[in-house]
Amino acid sequence: MIDIENYNVNNIFAKILRKELPSKKVYEDKYTFAFEDISPQAPVHILIIPKKSFCSFDDFIQKADDVFILGFIKSIKQIKESLKIKNGYRLITNVGLDGGQEVPHLHFHLLSGDFSKKLVSD
Ligand code: AMP
Repeated sequence: MIDIENYNVNNIFAKILRKELPSKKVYEDKYTFAFEDISPQAPVHILIIPKKSFCSFDDFIQKADDVFILGFIKSIKQIKESLKIKNGYRLITNVGLDGGQEVPHLHFHLLSGDFSKKLVSD
């Protein structure tokens, strides 16, 4: 079970930020690093992570300062534009065990592409 109360400096995304593990980078600025998901669930599947140690969205909102929050959130627009996404996208962050979070470093999934197979039936 992952611990999202105490930041684990050895989580996979911390290692990617430190360049100890490889990643396919798509974007970087002073707040944000974004890279391709290793197991894509859509034609576009990017992971967007802050360049600071936050376990989850809850941890981020509680501890990050306003300048960092704004910079990080605004970077999502830059990433969307750099990917030339035109027909919409999903932005998802999983939090904790019941949210399906596997990696204990805040990340947003940006997904775009073929959602003809709907995840939830009408
Ligand atoms: P979550 O379940 O929200 O914590 O999502 C974790 C995501 O990280 C999954 O979509 C994985 O496919 C992805 N992932 C795990 N390891 C790597 C890696 N080394 N490089 C890129 N994506 C990864």
